[in-house]
Amino acid sequence: EAKRLGRNRYQFFSPSMQELAAHKLQVSNDLRHALNRHELVMYYQPIVDLATNEIHKAEALVRWQHPTRGLVPPFEFIPVAEETGMINRMGDWVFRQSARDTVTLVQESLASRSAPPEGNVVDATIFQVSINVSPLQFQSSQELQTWQAYLDQIGLPAECLAIEITEGLLLEASDQVKATLTQFRDAGIATSIDDFGTGYSSLAYLKKFHIDFVKIDRSFVQNLGAGNDDMVLCEVIVDMAHRLGMRVIAEGVETEAQLELLKRAGCDFAQGYLFSPALPFDQFMTFVRDWRKAPAH
Ligand code: C2E
Ligand code: MG
Ligand code: MG
Ligand code: MG
Repeated sequence: EAKRLGRNRYQFFSPSMQELAAHKLQVSNDLRHALNRHELVMYYQPIVDLATNEIHKAEALVRWQHPTRGLVPPFEFIPVAEETGMINRMGDWVFRQSARDTVTLVQESLASRSAPPEGNVVDATIFQVSINVSPLQFQSSQELQTWQAYLDQIGLPAECLAIEITEGLLLEASDQVKATLTQFRDAGIATSIDDFGTGYSSLAYLKKFHIDFVKIDRSFVQNLGAGNDDMVLCEVIVDMAHRLGMRVIAEGVETEAQLELLKRAGCDFAQGYLFSPALPFDQFMTFVRDWRKAPAH
């Protein structure tokens, strides 16, 4: 028994911590195989333009189709991937798969139009997919060149992609990571701040990074009520974001009442179970096609 060998020396190795470490090792080994065996899958959640009621945006969300555990949600493996450095390989796969799917979405959107876009310019107004990135992916300045080379290869304009970084992670990020964020933006890839309101950054701070989109965290949307604190917060976030040249996406919209209040607050985009959960690519395509024929809400 560990205890007998000396209190101070072994006090940190409680069984639960051993189990935790073993579990982490297991997940990280599994994850390596997952990449080799192509068990990761990209899902897409539609983002509705509240001004036009159109869908020309989506968020790419990774899933792990595990042979025995079934569909594993990202919170069960992203943290481990970040700790073990696996996030780089995973993030690279996420980017490539999402970019390829975006090509299809852009083509499909173009085909559905009665007239070609003005000047034949393909940009964010045709279709834009946002990809969640871990700041660890930006530790090397090579990342952007890698992305650009791949976008050239598959013929996707950078404007059709956005990256999402959480507010908390932006605050903790190194100067190099912050500089890389600006470089992505300069390259034409839009930038979004995810889970806004959960950290302690101000919109004025975000302005320094020329952020395009602010995503209001689900926790504020959840408790929206006419005139309550969270409603005031949403109104203030939208107003200030607009004045600073950013647009606002509300996440986790589940009810018509929430949608109504968000529209009233002047929110630009909304995503959530009210419209659709994240879907496998084929189902997402069908959802968008059906929405074009007969938009709901
Ligand atoms: P997130 O980027 O804030 O994504 C939103 C999460 O809320 C997603 O969970 C989505 O499925 C869920 N969601 C959407 N609408 C609703 C709703 O109306 N109600 C509720 N209760 N939930 C809703 P998911 O897919 O499990 O992803 C969790 C987090 O994992 C993401 O949070 C993101 O931070 C991270 N993540 C997901 N995919 C990736 C990825 O490819 N790379 C990285 N680095 N992180 C990812
Ligand atoms: Mg996100
Ligand atoms: Mg989010
Ligand atoms: Mg979130």
